[in-house]
Order: sequence, then C-alpha cells, then structure tokens
Amino acid sequence: MSILVLPWPWRKPDGPPVVPCFLPFAGCRTRCLYCAQHLQTGRPSEADPSAALDACEAMLEERLARGLPPAEAAFYGGTFTGQAEAGLALCLARAERWLASGLASCWRCSTRPDCLSRDMLRRLGNAGCRTVELGIQTFGAEPLERSLRGYGPDCARQAMGLVRQSGLVLGCQLLPGLPGSTPEGFLEDVRESCALGADFLRFYPCLVIRGTGLAKLWEQGRYRPWDMETAVETLARGLALAGAVPVARIGVAYEEELGQSVLAGPWDRDLGTRVWSRLALRTLEQAAGTGGRERRLARAWLPRRMQGFLWGQNGENRQALAAAGIVSSAVAWTAADEIRLAFDEECLP
Ligand code: SF4
Repeated sequence: MSILVLPWPWRKPDGPPVVPCFLPFAGCRTRCLYCAQHLQTGRPSEADPSAALDACEAMLEERLARGLPPAEAAFYGGTFTGQAEAGLALCLARAERWLASGLASCWRCSTRPDCLSRDMLRRLGNAGCRTVELGIQTFGAEPLERSLRGYGPDCARQAMGLVRQSGLVLGCQLLPGLPGSTPEGFLEDVRESCALGADFLRFYPCLVIRGTGLAKLWEQGRYRPWDMETAVETLARGLALAGAVPVARIGVAYEEELGQSVLAGPWDRDLGTRVWSRLALRTLEQAAGTGGRERRLARAWLPRRMQGFLWGQNGENRQALAAAGIVSSAVAWTAADEIRLAFDEECLP
C-alpha cells in the first residue's frame, strides 16, 4: 500500500463574528454600473449615518445582553473614506465609543481604492480600525473602465500598497464577470491580489440587478453574465490559487429583496458551498488520478472541514468521486489539515 499526502490549506479567516453597519452608497461619488447596494444591504441610502449607527449599536448591545462575546463592527455598503467629513467623523467617534465601552472588540470598513491616502489610513488606525477592505473588483483596465469605476489598475495597486504600509489588515474584494472580463482575467486578479499582500479575499461574482446600468446593457443584449457552471468552476480555481490566503466570502449575502431583483447571473444563496465542493472534487480527482491505472484507491482520510461540502449539493459530486474511488465507506474524517489517500499496489487486470 502506498500513501499520498496533500495539504488542505483552505479555511475562512479567524476572528470574532461581524456585526455590519450598512451605509449604502455613503461616500460614493459615482454609481458603478452593476451596483445596487440598497438592495444588497436591505437598507435605504441615507445622507446621515445616524440611523445605521444606531441599528448596528443595537445589535452589538443585544449580543452582549445574550452573554455573547463582543463582535467586530463592520462599515459596509459604500465608500467609507469618501464620506463627507460630518458623516465620517460621526462614524469614527461611534466606533471608538464601541471599542472603549467593550461593545465591539474591533472594527473594519470597506472603501474604494481611489478614496484613500496615508493620512486617512492613519486616522482610521488612530480610531481603532483594524481592517480595511478594498473594493478592487479587478485589475483589468477594460472591465474597470466599462464598469464606470472611474480609476485604473495602477490606482488599485497603489491603494493596496498604502494599506499594507499602514499596518492594517488588508482585505481585497474581487468582482469576477464584469463586462470585458474573462475567467482567466479573474484568475490573474487572484494571483495579483495575493502577490500584493492581501490578507484575505472576497469573491462577489457579477449579478445583473434590476435598476442598474448593467441591467440596461443586459436587456439590450450587450452584456452576458457568467453562467452558474462557469462561475462555480472558475471560482473554485480562484480558491485553489489563493491557497493559504483565506477567501472570507463567495457570493453576496442573501437578502430577499435582492433575490427578487436579480435578473441574471450566478445567483445562489449556497454559491460558496458549491464552490468549496467543486474545489474538493477537483483536488481529489487530481490526487486520486496520480495513482495511475495500476493503483486503486483503498482509503481516504479527509479533513473534517470538508465534511459539509464534499459530496456536493444533492450529492452532485458522488458519481465523479466514486469514479476516483472515493465512496462513503472509504472515507474517514480527521482533524488534520491534510488529505491522506491510501492506494493498493495490486495491478488491475
Ligand atoms: S460598487 Fe462601491 S463604489 Fe461603486 S457605487 Fe457601489 S458601493 Fe459605491
């Protein structure tokens, strides 16, 4: 019997649970072609962040009242650092208060690459910010331009460098499937994000949402989103490329109103599970295949973290896994971060 051992480095980032403070379109100077943050966050777009801050504070208080440990507050849904001074100052003061009172253990924000400076990052850090997530979307010049992002790839690269130098944790949000993008371009975006020092990634495949500029293009037949199979396969390849750089999220969070407004694109509330499942399948197919025709897979010891998605949605992976010799009776789950496959050495007829 011979044994093949492979690492399974993929995991979600560690850290406290996140309580979001959604500020849809706050600080956004332009409206990106595909964006419908008011639907994605389930909150109205308001000039004054007070109501959103109060809602977040209430959730933080509720956690503590239930005896749960403090969470991380997260300012999402807009361009946090692009807000007018009054709104930004309000958010920073409130975040500092949450930290000082023990309501939150830390906080983070998301913003655009072209709304960042050393001074701004220093200000965020002084107010206790731990993580900055950049809406990079892509480093492709054409998709950036066609999506009306209003900046080019170098701006995105520089912003990543600024966050890195600031010492804050750097999150990188990628948006595969924009007009003018390709699966290979997305994989290149993953490589580049990791090379530029992203501490973690998020993948949000492009959806066509009612009321956006992208919806008009789609209706006119001038844009076609990725189909589900392309998205699942390509995102799984992206996960594989990211390796030890964690991918914190795949696909936008489910909101009922958003679901009713998605016109086209790879929309599935379980998209992340499907992608993880595909990565498991491809990894095991490849590993089992290395045995060659002379060897038969006898036993597989797999990380327990794979257990929830190995067989696929409605068992869709079972047939392909069985062809590689991986059936339920041959699998044992372990706490290790590695795949261990045992092959019989007997020659098959
Ligand atoms: S994608 Fe980001 S920057 Fe563009 S409109 Fe939406 S929230 Fe604003």
